[in-house]
Amino acid sequence: MKLSSKILASLVTFPCPRCRYKVEIQLLDARVQVYRYCPCCRARIRLVDADGSMFGGLEEVDLAMEQLTKALKGLF
Ligand SMILES: [Zn+2]
Repeated sequence: MKLSSKILASLVTFPCPRCRYKVEIQLLDARVQVYRYCPCCRARIRLVDADGSMFGGLEEVDLAMEQLTKALKGLF
């Protein structure tokens, strides 16, 4: 399992920008679903930032892990 998959499966909470209610989402949801409704005040919350930098970062994590794995294999 890729490290980024684990990260995507993890739950995160973030405060609703309107009422500060802690909304719980799976990062996976944030990837496929851009908007979420706050269960408290029904405000529409945008989950993904416009440039998608968050998920670009995850791909870099995978790449770094692959390189690390290769480096470790080289040691043994
Ligand atoms: Zn709210």
